[in-house]
Amino acid sequence: MKDLVLASHNAGKLREFQTLLAPLGWRVIPQAELGVPEAPEPHCTFVENALAKARHASEHSGLPALADDSGICVHALGGAPGVHSARFAGEPKSDARNNALLLEKLAGQADRRAHYVCVLVMVRAADDPQPLIAEGEWHGEVAEAPRGEGGFGYDPYFLLPELGQTAGELDAALKNALSHRGAACRRLIERLQQIA
Ligand code: IMP
Repeated sequence: MKDLVLASHNAGKLREFQTLLAPLGWRVIPQAELGVPEAPEPHCTFVENALAKARHASEHSGLPALADDSGICVHALGGAPGVHSARFAGEPKSDARNNALLLEKLAGQADRRAHYVCVLVMVRAADDPQPLIAEGEWHGEVAEAPRGEGGFGYDPYFLLPELGQTAGELDAALKNALSHRGAACRRLIERLQQIA
């Protein structure tokens, strides 16, 4: 098995990546286990933040590293909250306050289109000149009222018109099959298989 450090503190993401990458011979180790401090995410694009996190984890651990950055982009808000999705309503981060602020900003707005974005970046070393980059999108609308207990973040308000359900109403397997994160993961794995 080859070791890979995951630049995330999220236990759910760790499990997902371990399951996906074990068949390709990768053992995924969370950065906290290797004493890697959390990286700053100062950039205005998902790809720059994901790259900064991956580089930082690789630099501190000496291992190849995988990082992701994700968020929701709302059409009528010019793509906001985007990279600021986790802390849209400020500190401390709160899904409830983020969702309340999103609804407030969309009050009276007919155009409720939104999409989730996930960018995954893998570097073989901190100075890797050719990082692997995989992106996924998931298109929907911001609902007027929450539905469903599943998922996290904006999921209870992320309506999929073709299903007539919010992301919060989907089970984990269906969400993975449709979501931005699932799509980005599948693309990353395709790339890894090509270079293996
Ligand atoms: P991060 O990539 O873990 O920093 O997540 C960024 C933020 O985007 C999360 O805190 C959520 O607010 C939002 N987000 C990203 N992906 C999802 C998702 O699949 N469902 C709901 N919210 C999401």
